[in-house]
Amino acid sequence: MAHYGGGASHLAAIYGSEQDKVNCSFYLKIGACRHGERCSRKHIKPQYSQTLVLLNAYQNPAYITGSTSNPHLRPKDAPPLDPNPSSKMSEQETQEYFDKFYEDVYCELVKFGNLLEMHVCDNVGDHLIGNVYARFEWEDQAQRAVDDLNKRWYAGRPLYAELSPVTDFREACCRQNDMGQCDRGGFCNFHHLRYPTPSLLKELRREQRVERRLNPDPRDEERKKELEMFGAEFMGAGAGAPGGGGRDRSPPPPRRY
Ligand SMILES: [Zn+2]
Ligand SMILES: [Zn+2]
Repeated sequence: MAHYGGGASHLAAIYGSEQDKVNCSFYLKIGACRHGERCSRKHIKPQYSQTLVLLNAYQNPAYITGSTSNPHLRPKDAPPLDPNPSSKMSEQETQEYFDKFYEDVYCELVKFGNLLEMHVCDNVGDHLIGNVYARFEWEDQAQRAVDDLNKRWYAGRPLYAELSPVTDFREACCRQNDMGQCDRGGFCNFHHLRYPTPSLLKELRREQRVERRLNPDPRDEERKKELEMFGAEFMGAGAGAPGGGGRDRSPPPPRRY
């Protein structure tokens, strides 16, 4: 196949990939890069995104050392870090501590809109430690959450939130770690996630569904109508085309308003 020497389509194809010499693929896909602001490639913060990151928000009691070189953690007016009274936690206590954190943050985030997913990194590298990534259904929900959370504190520490370019968390997550086989341990540059107790997550999602049913977003109804209209146009354009498999055959006519 002929290659026509680049141009816009070539740039689009390599955007954020290893071949992209301008944009940092780690920042785009994983939402954090170990080189930080010294990276030779660009970390362009998105102006709009469904995803936000709360930087270094979760403090695993096992990792607390009382200091960090991450500038986001230590704004000039921040109070001294709490001493860590819980470093001798058992695994079960650590999970309970984490579940409490997960629930607190989840319950805050759902106030801003339809929270689709929330992930907490348990990495130890400065750029990923304790990062919480949350993806909403709508970009303005993520923006409102960022604006609000930047004025808030959690467990005696200020929160630092920003929009994140991550869209696909399967690509950001370390698959080896999920199989218990990552050689890099906590210093891995992909997400090493800590998971909430499954019954807690199920309950949080159920509560969110109930809440949305009670207070539906007007856009849900709008979108339902739009999808039906789109379906009507799509079928109109395809009318008279030769019939294919079972899936194409006589779908029910869309309702019109
Ligand atoms: Zn980078
Ligand atoms: Zn890993």
